[in-house]
Amino acid sequence: MNKIIDSHMHISKWGDTDFISFFDDYRNKENIHAINLCAIPFKMSNVSNNIMLGFYKLARPNTYVHGGIELINVPIDNMPKGMTAVDQYKELMEIGFDGIKMLEGKPTEHKRIGKNLNHPSLNALYKEMEKDGTHLLMHVNDPDEFWDLKRAPEWAINCGWTYTDGTYSSYEEIHNQTVKILEDYPNLSLTVAHFFFCSKEPDILERLFSLYPNFCVDLTPGGEMYVEFEKNYDYYKSFFNKYSNRLIFGTDCSYLGDEEYASWLFNVVTTFLGTDKSVISFDDKELKGLGMTQDKTDNILFANFERRVGKEPKPMDKKKFKAYIEKYSFALTDEDIKNITPLMEKYL
Ligand SMILES: [Zn+2]
Repeated sequence: MNKIIDSHMHISKWGDTDFISFFDDYRNKENIHAINLCAIPFKMSNVSNNIMLGFYKLARPNTYVHGGIELINVPIDNMPKGMTAVDQYKELMEIGFDGIKMLEGKPTEHKRIGKNLNHPSLNALYKEMEKDGTHLLMHVNDPDEFWDLKRAPEWAINCGWTYTDGTYSSYEEIHNQTVKILEDYPNLSLTVAHFFFCSKEPDILERLFSLYPNFCVDLTPGGEMYVEFEKNYDYYKSFFNKYSNRLIFGTDCSYLGDEEYASWLFNVVTTFLGTDKSVISFDDKELKGLGMTQDKTDNILFANFERRVGKEPKPMDKKKFKAYIEKYSFALTDEDIKNITPLMEKYL
């Protein structure tokens, strides 16, 4: 039985069911050792998402959490004193967060922050995190076809995730800004989600791996990457074996997403890595397993994550968590408060 950490999951909205039992079901069914919940400010602020994650961790302490920075003024020139990106990072770490998640490299968010991942206030954050050795998980870009209406899939068009109207940065600009973060902070413990959307140009990853010792990518879909693994089997077989210490397993599944999908993907990836059986992945063709040795499979399924983030999740400081909720209550909606109040009574 493999030990598994799902390094990239979300609670993206308040639901009408219990988010704690939602994850219990997945963890129990697939025998997941630990999960890492990451802030995702789509339907709520980073503050409200951080609070949800904190409560989940209080309920299930064997959980890692990566919080998000609330960008109080956007574009991000004037973050208020005491609430700069660095201040917020330090607060989250003191509460018991295990790392930081940034969505600011997704084209929609990137546009909102003023199209600059190398802004001084973010540079100050990377610098501090590099110094502390804290893990940063970033979503950067989207599949390159999202910049081309002829190639973009319908679901992406429906989500508003196409970037052809001239108001968004290009794929290359966002990519290059991310590489610049590594150039400026070469020891930063940076994981870029979704294989950095580089499965068609993996030599880019090979170059970055050779230059930056703490740079990793995760294997959360983009299903297109699994199709590329299938098409270039021999290349990727040697890539995975060579870089098993730079690849991290995760599903990117969310509370109130499709539970069956989480289990399906879990089985696709574990079969692909650790066996030589074939499995149907994101197209109708067969993805042949890499049959990697146990130590290399372990790197990807949990050991790389543990080395970067910690063997155990950090404990929560209830007093500091409560102070955070009070300090940032201005960012909460009525719906947030309605949901947070009973959680505070139960856990704080
Ligand atoms: Zn995600």
